[in-house]
Amino acid sequence: MESLRLQFPALQQAGLIYLDNAATTQKPHDVIEAMSQFYLRDNANVHRGAHRLSARATRAFEGARATLAQFINAPAQHEVIFTRGTTEAMNLLASSLATMQLHPGDHVLVDQWAHHASIVPWQQACHRHGATLHAIPMTAAGRLDFDAFRALLRQHPKVVVLTGISNALGCRVELEPFIAAAKAVGATVIIDGAQMVAHSHIDVQALGCDFFAFSGHKMYGPTGIGALWGKTELLEAMPPYQFGGEMIASVSFEHSSFNQLPFKFEAGTPAIAEAIGLGAAAQWLMRQDRHSVAAHEQQLLQYAQQQLRQLDGITLYSAFADNVGSLAFNVDGEHHQDIGVWLDQAGIAVRCGHHCCQPLMQHLGVKGTCRLSVAAYNTHAEIDAVIAAISDYLEFIDDDA
Ligand code: PLP
Repeated sequence: MESLRLQFPALQQAGLIYLDNAATTQKPHDVIEAMSQFYLRDNANVHRGAHRLSARATRAFEGARATLAQFINAPAQHEVIFTRGTTEAMNLLASSLATMQLHPGDHVLVDQWAHHASIVPWQQACHRHGATLHAIPMTAAGRLDFDAFRALLRQHPKVVVLTGISNALGCRVELEPFIAAAKAVGATVIIDGAQMVAHSHIDVQALGCDFFAFSGHKMYGPTGIGALWGKTELLEAMPPYQFGGEMIASVSFEHSSFNQLPFKFEAGTPAIAEAIGLGAAAQWLMRQDRHSVAAHEQQLLQYAQQQLRQLDGITLYSAFADNVGSLAFNVDGEHHQDIGVWLDQAGIAVRCGHHCCQPLMQHLGVKGTCRLSVAAYNTHAEIDAVIAAISDYLEFIDDDA
């Protein structure tokens, strides 16, 4: 653990306990170094450059794409489209795929715990195309409701968007049966993998989905970069999302023809250093013993759940044994932001709010929650510090009363 933590410069600050990893993870030296080296040595624009710097930049940029393809077990590198992150990937689909697939009277399904990045682009696409957006409900116990999902599938939705791991709650869904059921009625299935990539091995072929979206900064990589994986036949059939340089084959004032995959969806100069940094992050993750990391994170979450359950006046939300990454709670009668500020004074970074999941918060009947979210580098001692700080808070409000 010590040597792992040493790889993360930001964690070396005294008095910092970083448990806001679902929002963004810290970055290891490898990622920072890969980006620095690009700017120090190789900086040039990619593709079509005659000079050696451009050749080196292109090699590193396309090498990052190849790494990502390996990271998610994509059958082909051209199926990996660089985007700014999950949000842009979802907007790309809600623009391009929706234009191809959605017609008046159609249906789109999004899960109840979806991030606004899934809900809003598809809601707006439904408005544009005269389709209807439905929420896949949760059971009273706090899982995604498979029976209700199957009932919704009777409407033959054109698109189903599933969030593999909820960023707000940390609970997960067994994706394979959901994907298989959606595919059986002919739906195009999109996975929001933003919270999956740092915690679990991803195999898009085994999942059986059509699209998989993720963000670099949630998997130890830089901000401003992520990817959309999609099946070749769908990506080829879809119209471009944005227009400009890079994405064209030929242009006249009357007409343009478009580049092949993946460039057709990558208009303009890409985020080159960020893509290289994301490649380094994927390499870093693939070098870890991912089984042990996942088991360690699971233990931390279990421990946090157990400890919080022992305190009076704490409500936990969808806190299951198989949760991944995050744990949501409130101190009864207290505003979640007050807890966030209290914890910050103890040097503890957690996130408090609606976590970009307002429909989920409405479902839970709360304005927001406190969320602690773990990564490979967190420790039991850090969870102990959170529990101690919350115990202090409970004492403080008790004295105040
Ligand atoms: N989906 C989920 C489940 C998320 O947790 C997030 C970010 O918190 C997003 C989508 C949006 O990701 P980004 O802001 O990196 O585009």
